[in-house]
Amino acid sequence: MKIPILRKFSKTAIRTITHVVTPKPVAALTFDDGPHPEYTPPLLDLLEKHQVRATFFVVGKMAQQYPEIIQRIAKSGHVIGNHSWDHPSFPHITSRERFTQILACTRAVAPYGVRLFRPPYGHLNLTSHYIALLLGYQVITWNLVVMDWLDYKPDRLVARLENKITPGDIVLLHDALYYTEKVQYADRKPMLQALDRILSRSDFPISFVTVPELLSLGKPIRRSWYQTGDINWLNTLQELDDSRIARRYNLPG
Ligand SMILES: [Zn+2]
Repeated sequence: MKIPILRKFSKTAIRTITHVVTPKPVAALTFDDGPHPEYTPPLLDLLEKHQVRATFFVVGKMAQQYPEIIQRIAKSGHVIGNHSWDHPSFPHITSRERFTQILACTRAVAPYGVRLFRPPYGHLNLTSHYIALLLGYQVITWNLVVMDWLDYKPDRLVARLENKITPGDIVLLHDALYYTEKVQYADRKPMLQALDRILSRSDFPISFVTVPELLSLGKPIRRSWYQTGDINWLNTLQELDDSRIARRYNLPG
């Protein structure tokens, strides 16, 4: 979107659900980029132990690879949303690819998925947003990040969650990192430890529900969300599977 007036229009026209205004002491934990064979099962154990239900925005390619984890997520009462097929930055792919990305993930999580879409990296432009809406998806972003895509120690993650959380929040977390700036960031153990500590606290003022439950318990708030992402930054990311993300984003010009 290179025409200034269109960019200005996009900035106000795109409104995604970031949180909910609610009188109840509830918030939603969301986990992106899984399922992951090493980290998602212990997360599910942990949520089960604390009787918490969450929302998983899964990557279709991983869902296809680990259908048994998808089944377990669904059967445990969690919600499964769509985080694309293989995590591209939507403003940097064609519209045909955007359709394919969302639909391929829809197929990979069937029959368990719900029509909630979270754009990879939070990158969203006008056409990406409309394509998601056209496919019947609500676009769910967030209003609280715990920065768990870096290698923060559990203490720091706990403090951030404790100090920042308020009722109605949608919290961004990751049970996997599909792409990362540094391979060592991929370790999910600090996030799991931090979460266990938070959920173990009997005096924690917030209880956690799924995104659809949260939406039904208050008034969903839509905020302007226009983020196109930096191509140079995208080129620094590493795909944790095998190949370099640069192959996808190293666009001519
Ligand atoms: Zn993601």
